[in-house]
Amino acid sequence: MDAEIIAVGSELLTPQRLDTNSLFLTDKLNALGIEVRFKTVVGDDRERLASVLRAALGRSGLIVLTGGLGPTEDDVNRDVVAEVLARPLREVPEIRQQLEKRFARVGRTMSANNLRQALVPEGADWLENKNGTAPGLWIEQGETLIVLLPGPPWELEAMFESACLPRLAQRATGGRIVTRVLKVVGLPESEVDRRIAPIYREYRNPATTILATLGSIEIHLRARAASDAEAEALLAPLADKIEVALGDNIYSTKGESLEEIVGMFLMMKQKTMAAAESCTGGLLAERLTRTPGSSNYFLGGAICYSNELKTKLAGVPEVLIKENGAVSKPVAQAMAEGIRRRSGASIGIGVTGIAGPGGGSAEKPVGLVFIALADEHGTQVREFRFPGNRERVRLWASTAALEMIRRRVRD
Ligand code: AMP
Ligand code: MG
Repeated sequence: MDAEIIAVGSELLTPQRLDTNSLFLTDKLNALGIEVRFKTVVGDDRERLASVLRAALGRSGLIVLTGGLGPTEDDVNRDVVAEVLARPLREVPEIRQQLEKRFARVGRTMSANNLRQALVPEGADWLENKNGTAPGLWIEQGETLIVLLPGPPWELEAMFESACLPRLAQRATGGRIVTRVLKVVGLPESEVDRRIAPIYREYRNPATTILATLGSIEIHLRARAASDAEAEALLAPLADKIEVALGDNIYSTKGESLEEIVGMFLMMKQKTMAAAESCTGGLLAERLTRTPGSSNYFLGGAICYSNELKTKLAGVPEVLIKENGAVSKPVAQAMAEGIRRRSGASIGIGVTGIAGPGGGSAEKPVGLVFIALADEHGTQVREFRFPGNRERVRLWASTAALEMIRRRVRD
């Protein structure tokens, strides 16, 4: 059985609201081995919803509509479904009583339009809403199952768990979808694909998707099989071949972030670190401290944005800044060595660069970043030219610093 989700609500077509219900539903459906093949966001409009629903009826075994079950005029799902399926709406006395009780309990009088929520298409089942007034609907139309769920996520989630999951689990033919995520750093997307496309093209199951996120690339492998074990067995050979093709550019195979992996290596090697950050403004420290337990290896650091503070906090000699400029190899090196010396950490990091949009020159363009790593073996300084806007340059720089630490500590 393949599924399709129709998220209904005009607000979901504006920049103010995002359809998150479908993400929750997809996760739950996938766990039952049900794949989501189509997803539509449509406004509260009778004709447009009807046309989306007709298309869905022709291609999907399970159609889940979310939202549009409220008492107001703009909530049209119930009406449209009844009309498209040619099932007249009938009032269900039990729902009406529940609504009346609910309103009595909170001391409010029920307005007439709330009664719309007691209407159910002929032959449909209704699903109790423990967290709100709008009941859900469960409609079997020939081979097709149509489920209507309320829009508010806490109502939808509770209803799905209690009323839909058990019934769907019975119908699902069994089967599981298992995903493995390989995370890659230090290679552009095109190079990743050049190396692994010949491998993954040979497989239809698992299916492979490549997702470029900022500074990191994720390879998602999804296998569909009768059981978790069988899905894992399908994933393993493909994952192994990809791991060989990308070597140590793969930093994570179990979903960990780069900062978590760096933290794990630092813990394992019993090393500590500190950072002197200029253009990243503390972003590196922020990312490192996202991981619980980071106090075991991250001592702290300094945000030395001005030249004065590079000298005061990281001990960078004034003359070095005067002669080379704040964005330079020697200054990055002095920042790393200075923060290491002053903090007593085993590793010191120095980051200095031009995040833009202003401040660039022909010689030192926006995106130019120097990152230095100092430890007991000496100091390594790398020069980077990151593309993109200020936000991207800063994120890239923090990722590159993490990657330098990963490589140094791992070896
Ligand atoms: P409705 O049942 O259509 O009146 O929706 C009630 C509220 O639920 C909306 O105002 C949204 O805040 C929220 N909502 C509706 N659909 C979604 C969705 N697909 N994802 C997340 N929130 C939603
Ligand atoms: Mg709505």
